[in-house]
Amino acid sequence: MGSHGSHRAPRRAGRTALALAAAAVLVAAGFVGTKAVLDRGSSPTATPPGPASPSRSSPASPAETGTPPSTGAPSTPPATTSPPVATSPGGTPRPDVDGLRPPIVQEPIPFPPERVREMAAYSERHYGISSADLTHPEVIVEHFTGGTSFTSAWNTFASNDPHLDELPGTCAHFIIDTDGTIYQLVPLSRMCRHTVGLNYTAFGIEDVGQSDQEVLDDPAQLRSMLRLTLWLMARSHISVGNVIGHNESLTSPFHLERFAPWRCQTHQDWNREDMDVVRARLADMAREAGVPVGPPARRVTPDC
Ligand SMILES: [Zn+2]
Repeated sequence: MGSHGSHRAPRRAGRTALALAAAAVLVAAGFVGTKAVLDRGSSPTATPPGPASPSRSSPASPAETGTPPSTGAPSTPPATTSPPVATSPGGTPRPDVDGLRPPIVQEPIPFPPERVREMAAYSERHYGISSADLTHPEVIVEHFTGGTSFTSAWNTFASNDPHLDELPGTCAHFIIDTDGTIYQLVPLSRMCRHTVGLNYTAFGIEDVGQSDQEVLDDPAQLRSMLRLTLWLMARSHISVGNVIGHNESLTSPFHLERFAPWRCQTHQDWNREDMDVVRARLADMAREAGVPVGPPARRVTPDC
């Protein structure tokens, strides 16, 4: 996992250029519509104004980024179905984004206008963004549900019960069952309340289970988690370094929380050691599929 140096150009400019170049190639090839590529490419930075954001721009030392250990990997083989990697006339591989999309079962939770308004009000309070739209996804957060069934997790997210004395209730974009079935609960264009400090810019994926290891030891579930995450990375141009565990939320450079009492709020699901295993697997899959891996993880000192 060492050769990320060529991606160290200024982040937004580099990504925008990459997105536009990729769009041009795809359009020229008549391959896909431009929306998936351009849905975020040319807009200004998503980081909203707030007291926490300016201090987040200092670069992390290379030592912090680390190389994911290879020794802790589970014994199950990585996902083996690799979509073909197309090559542009210039010889640059480009990912087949649609081909990377795993099967997804739609099981939407109720999200009536009232809940949308609650999400927008939450977003205004915590991020200074008066909208429930997830327009600039930069992060993917992995979770486990803490329960034992898809149904109980779905019911929790559908209930819209207050959490930490606030509405809307918690939710996630996806739940992955123990048999590997991927369910989508919320459109990717909607903010969903799964990680304090990151909901304005993060997709949330919940694995049914009660520990990181339980998921790592379930080949079907882990494979679905990796495939879903890789597709989201390719679709939204998210680097593997911004695929994090909930337990890593406070050190994400995108962490933003205007409500001071919540600045240290995080959970135990998916710690750094276990996510290093996941990121190593994802990086291998990304290279194989022609998905840009991006720069290594950048971490910040928690603002608490
Ligand atoms: Zn979580």
